[in-house]
Amino acid sequence: MSNKVVKFGGSSLADANQFRKVAAIIRSDEKRRYVVPSAPGKRFSDDIKITDMLYKCAELAVNNADFSEDFQLIKNRYNEIIAELGIDMSLDSEFDAIVSELKSRPARDFAASRGEYLNGKILAKYLGYNFVDAADIIVFDTKGVLLLEETVKAVREKLRELDNAVIPGFYGRTTEGFIKTFSRGGSDVTGSIIANAVKADIYENWTDVSGFLVADPRIVENPDVIETITYRELRELAYMGASVLHEDAIFPVRSAGIPINIRNTNRPEDAGTMIVSNDYDFSKESLSHTITGIAGRKGFSTINIEKAMMNSETGFGMKVLQVLYENGLSFEHMPSGIDTMSITLDSAKLEPVRENVLSGIRKAVNPDNLEIEDGIAILAVVGRRMKNTRGTVARIFAAMAHARINVKLIDQGSSELNVIIGVSEHDLPEAIRRIYDMFINSEK
Ligand code: ASP
Repeated sequence: MSNKVVKFGGSSLADANQFRKVAAIIRSDEKRRYVVPSAPGKRFSDDIKITDMLYKCAELAVNNADFSEDFQLIKNRYNEIIAELGIDMSLDSEFDAIVSELKSRPARDFAASRGEYLNGKILAKYLGYNFVDAADIIVFDTKGVLLLEETVKAVREKLRELDNAVIPGFYGRTTEGFIKTFSRGGSDVTGSIIANAVKADIYENWTDVSGFLVADPRIVENPDVIETITYRELRELAYMGASVLHEDAIFPVRSAGIPINIRNTNRPEDAGTMIVSNDYDFSKESLSHTITGIAGRKGFSTINIEKAMMNSETGFGMKVLQVLYENGLSFEHMPSGIDTMSITLDSAKLEPVRENVLSGIRKAVNPDNLEIEDGIAILAVVGRRMKNTRGTVARIFAAMAHARINVKLIDQGSSELNVIIGVSEHDLPEAIRRIYDMFINSEK
């Protein structure tokens, strides 16, 4: 039977009203059979997530301090949801069990996992779905590394017998029997694993935005939503700091060829963003801008090296990179000229070894000129269609020239999936706005 795995984030399940929206979404499509909830998130911007409250309880418990007041606040939130939904259930025995476990064997992961566990109990009851404890099917080794094969097998065995299930996100159990969580935001990963195991048609990830945006809304006013993005494009944008999804949530569905659909619980009528593999049939798309997204990041430095006849000196690049290697540095970009080479890298990582790097390069290659320029921002213009479109780079530079923004670095990967440009940090917002205008507004 075909099915969809649906994961709901913390803000989608923050209170009773959000639970009602979630239930309506699930009930509106009978394929939405496997549901992965997060713990209750923020109801308003200054609110505290249940997960953070649980971490605080764990902290107190570890230090043998009293956590009853903090735990009471957690109980209140769940009890309020239960009362407002009018469901006939009590979590009192669960609360007592958590308190006694925290008193006898306080552990951060166990505490944090209870946010999803309790929310899953409520959601299962409210929907009339089966509850499956993630501790019984998500398996980690003793070091806390997910055992994907064992997990997939356990999930299949368990879910095979069930038409529907609520499986709390974020945690599992080690082979030694301890509760273990993924890193923060890890319910995304649980959803992805379940989707892989049940061979879902689609993995729907419901959150509080209508998908990935073409550009940061703090920079571009009301940017368009990306309708379709490939996994590779997503990686390029995510690397530059655009994040909606946990990074580890990609692999399990990608390897199984299952698309992810990012959806908005508060606007279920919006189609959201589809994340698909490279061989997806893009003819179904209605929108087709040349570019898919723009992202930028500050905090880079460039090491500029000049030496006459550099091009004929064998091993020049190798010697320079050896110095970086010896100082434990990786680099982001390395455009070069005949007698120049410039290396862009993370300023924060360079800072502690700055002098060593300078003296090391002087010693290794004896350059005519050597300097470090700080305050560089890197901007990535990403899009699978650039490959078949002429003039993209020219348009990027025209946009920069009109804005009188000096381009300090250019790099186009061989995949032609992105164009990277470096500008001064203070030029970054304007550069993003100009590129957005050039490719999105003017292509409308
Ligand atoms: N509740 C956990 C967190 O706040 C996991 C999740 O929501 O995905 O990080």
